[in-house]
Amino acid sequence: MADHMTPQQRHRCMSRIGSKDTQPELLVRRWLWRQGFRYRLHDKRLPGTPDIVMHQFRTVIFVNGCFWHGHDCEHFRLPTTNTEFWRKKIDNNRRRDRLNRGMLKYAGWHVLTVWECQLTKATRQATLQQLSAQLSTIILDHFQPRPATKPSPYTIGDTTSLAAEP
Ligand SMILES: [Zn+2]
Repeated sequence: MADHMTPQQRHRCMSRIGSKDTQPELLVRRWLWRQGFRYRLHDKRLPGTPDIVMHQFRTVIFVNGCFWHGHDCEHFRLPTTNTEFWRKKIDNNRRRDRLNRGMLKYAGWHVLTVWECQLTKATRQATLQQLSAQLSTIILDHFQPRPATKPSPYTIGDTTSLAAEP
């Protein structure tokens, strides 16, 4: 579990951390926008400040970097230097991610996660199409007729979620 990045590569990798508008996130946002989806960005009122929020369908999307969020994939390698520091740090991030997802789901949100490694040139198209399919399923479910005795859990015509640009 160690990598062989040069300091330059490492720096480039680290410098992306904490950036809100990462390239993978922009890819997802542009795709969704072109598909006609509208959303808010980085809603601080929700656990984990989800990258993309669709209030109408009570859905959030996290676009996660594989290193920072400790994805169990071939893109994730602990650095050879300060390995223990990074292991702890990434473990904490994973724990926090799990907690945030749990809180969101408990509050009735659909939580979708797209990983950086699913957005390479080779994998991008399939990933984005799958995302659209998932969203379609969620939306159909939301607009299923429900028994009149039950109050609707969502608000149709909530325009507050239509504000963001891609
Ligand atoms: Zn990954």
